[in-house]
Amino acid sequence: TGKKFMMMIRARIPGGVMTANQYRVFDDLSTEYGNNTMRLTTRQSIQFHGVLLHGLGPLIKRINDSLLSTLAACGDVNRNITASPTPATTRARELVYQDSVRLAEALAPQTKAYHSIWIDGVQLDLDDPENKDFVDPLYGKTYLPRKFKTSLVIPPVNDMDVLTNDLGFIAITEGDTLLGYNVVAGGGMGRSHGQVQTFPRLASLIGFTKPEDVIEVAKAVLTIHRDYGDRTNRKHARLKYVVQEKGAEWVTAEVNRRTGGLLAAARPYEFTTTADLYGWNRAVDGSLFLTLYVQTGRIKDSEGHALKTALRQVAEKFPHIEFRLSANQNVILANIPEADRAAIDALLSSHGVKTADQAPILHAASMACPSLPTCGLALAESERMLPGLIDRIATLGGSLGLGGEEIIIRSTGCPNGCARPYMAELAFVGKAPGRYQVWIGGNASGTRLNRVFKEMIKEADVETEIGPLFARWKAERVANERFGDFAARVIWPELEIAQAAAA
Ligand code: SF4
Repeated sequence: TGKKFMMMIRARIPGGVMTANQYRVFDDLSTEYGNNTMRLTTRQSIQFHGVLLHGLGPLIKRINDSLLSTLAACGDVNRNITASPTPATTRARELVYQDSVRLAEALAPQTKAYHSIWIDGVQLDLDDPENKDFVDPLYGKTYLPRKFKTSLVIPPVNDMDVLTNDLGFIAITEGDTLLGYNVVAGGGMGRSHGQVQTFPRLASLIGFTKPEDVIEVAKAVLTIHRDYGDRTNRKHARLKYVVQEKGAEWVTAEVNRRTGGLLAAARPYEFTTTADLYGWNRAVDGSLFLTLYVQTGRIKDSEGHALKTALRQVAEKFPHIEFRLSANQNVILANIPEADRAAIDALLSSHGVKTADQAPILHAASMACPSLPTCGLALAESERMLPGLIDRIATLGGSLGLGGEEIIIRSTGCPNGCARPYMAELAFVGKAPGRYQVWIGGNASGTRLNRVFKEMIKEADVETEIGPLFARWKAERVANERFGDFAARVIWPELEIAQAAAA
């Protein structure tokens, strides 16, 4: 047609874990076929933007040659499985990671078309009865009604925002021993403006399972979605609506019916934070790991801050270390011997990349989805807007004596919610160019949804819209109450009264 199509390619990287060599392949591809940046996603993956049609084949083939894939990174299937990347608390993390890899294999579609088209470069022979009559053992002929997201997390750190997933496994550990997982089902962020039948939902706790049974339990939850999800309306098709309408007890009973009773009563657990451990830290095995802040998840070179080049050189010079992507859109360099620390510090520093005090507190706790110009669903700016907005919010807080307070701020360009805005203490969800719906009241541990504060504000009016809220937080907070906790305790009841009066 002569038209130039630009595409986005997303990789499937279970648990966000890559060897240094695999990272180098991604870096090469972003230069050769993309726009010389890499976008880390909120699901521990990498997206390439600006890929032209002729680059599609070689790019996908080379990702597969590196032993990763793009199969099922999009589509109505189980997506990239996320798993806690931080090796700080328990050796059981390695077992949890291995379970994430096993799950990714077990839940991948068995289609042969992907390999024949993208790897072998030939069209699948549909006259071959083996291909013609092929039915995926898990997904059947019609796959799932909608995407399906799975995550594994290790309390007390909820760095995966596990309750936002269709299916979550919450590790129950005793020291370094992995006893099993609490299982949660039916979470999800996506909603649509003006459609109250669509809503964000926290996953419900449905039971406890042993590590050896995670695949059977996962298949049971996935096939419940396959069999009961709404195939008539994509906006109502996620598993969360099945769980909401049938109830968590029904889901537990149905999983047990499908698995012969692999779910037992859930065990106690507690989450305290969703944050990454920035800077240098020591892993439980004695090695070091370094968490680097990546502003809005975009790895690129900019004036005085050549993060992309620096990471590339780290991958080349330290091939034994691991690159782990966090679900907060940051990079963790792991398995670093003590002897490499000074050289890595020096290399990063020579490219303007700091390893301590990497970002002001509000930036370090924030996330934005890509939105414009690369996302077709965008209604307003997000990635290009949020850093400047946060600077203004920091100035506002500073003027009220609230400087140094952490607030989890997230923005998205549409209500789909890719940056999990409905878990933030303060969120901006795009409605139209320069206009955002404002949500308040999420918490630091990722266990509470926020609520709408204002249906629509102009980005230009943030100071006047948020300023009075901050002033009240400063005046009325108890002890060191966080903004989200204050909003939920004090502002939510007022919003309810106002809504009742208006109704
Ligand atoms: Fe996701 Fe919407 Fe942002 Fe696009 S604009 S990346 S769909 S949240």
